[in-house]
Amino acid sequence: MSRAVHPVSIAVLACCLLSAPLFQGLCAELPVPMDPLQPKSAEADARNVIIKVGRHQGFVRFVFLSSEGNIYSGSAKQAGKDTIAVEFPPALTYHVAEKGQLRGDSVTEVAKDVKIAVKRSGCWITIENLSDFKVSKLTFPPRLVIDAAAGQQAMPAVPGKPQAPPHQPETAPKLVTFMIDAGHGGYDKGIRGESFTEKDFALSLSKDLGSGLMRKGRKVFVTRKADQVLTISERLRLAGQRSPDLLLSLHVSSDGKLRIYGSPRRPPDGQEDRQGADPYAKPHAVAQSFAENLAQTIRGETDLDVEVDSLPLALIARVKSPSLVIEMPNPEKFNYEGKGREKLLAALVKGLTALQP
Ligand SMILES: [Zn+2]
Repeated sequence: MSRAVHPVSIAVLACCLLSAPLFQGLCAELPVPMDPLQPKSAEADARNVIIKVGRHQGFVRFVFLSSEGNIYSGSAKQAGKDTIAVEFPPALTYHVAEKGQLRGDSVTEVAKDVKIAVKRSGCWITIENLSDFKVSKLTFPPRLVIDAAAGQQAMPAVPGKPQAPPHQPETAPKLVTFMIDAGHGGYDKGIRGESFTEKDFALSLSKDLGSGLMRKGRKVFVTRKADQVLTISERLRLAGQRSPDLLLSLHVSSDGKLRIYGSPRRPPDGQEDRQGADPYAKPHAVAQSFAENLAQTIRGETDLDVEVDSLPLALIARVKSPSLVIEMPNPEKFNYEGKGREKLLAALVKGLTALQP
């Protein structure tokens, strides 16, 4: 799951989004609204990563706190039988609460059977008998959370959150309002197969996804309810009016994968403010953590190949709300018949309703 834009992804999107007539000519057309979201205060800890380690029933939690940019770029993957490699931009300094700064050439025991070693591009966590781990990115404050289990221990049901006793009411904050944007419409048909047209398929999925979210008590707005032409600026205006907690633009992929795209931090040319900063850096970073967490749920609930990436697409790059483009698997490459469609929509609803602002 590379952060770099995957060449295949671009090719796929080229079929459906980039070549759409709606996309073209937008750069000149859209005004550049300014807002005060530039994360100046985050710069204070941009060179440091604070690591908190806590032992919970059945797992060890590592919380990596740093600037939004560092957390956005961070990742964690298995690097050996008992080792998780946590990677961040180079030249950061790592501190563990109560242990102080970690030196580059030493291994520090941060809890019983748990060690952290600082490497050139991050740090390695070693846990004796590591059996499973889950990674999530959360905001306010920006943090990367790893829950790791050893031996036969069970993981918490939701990554990044301890398992609540069953009688306890759910108090974690949730996203309340969603706006679903069915891609294309009218003369802009999107990609076409023998048996489907993207604009119709996206509309039908957006209706069912909206119903699923409403059944979970969420408020859902849509950009289009019918087969109609809607320009990107009209979609942006609708999203601006409603300010949803998350805008989802549904499209169809050219293969059997499900892809979730956020917008990259680097703004499209001409979008920087006077200090050269992207006024949308914050919603973009929030969306990227949503994308990672949503992908993790869908992978857990289905057999789908789910990719997360970022692309400077007009709609998600220019909207003030956190926003994602979801390319659903192509109906000719993925079986939506029988339980397939139901299961995929249920996984999406589960992932979306678990997201924390
Ligand atoms: Zn499309």
